[in-house]
Amino acid sequence: MQCQRCSSLRGEQAVARIRSEIIDLAVCGQCAQEAWELGLGYELLPEPSATTGAERIAAAA
Ligand SMILES: [Zn+2]
Repeated sequence: MQCQRCSSLRGEQAVARIRSEIIDLAVCGQCAQEAWELGLGYELLPEPSATTGAERIAAAA
């Protein structure tokens, strides 16, 4: 699954899901980081991935 926020720009692999009252998007690590900085919560997608996005999120959390 590709990031539903920036897939048209970079085609990043989605590694997390942003959830709020108005949105529910699968996003890449960078977008999850930006969402977190905006005060939105996210959760890592359960499927295993070879990308480093999950590791970046874990490091930033
Ligand atoms: Zn993204």
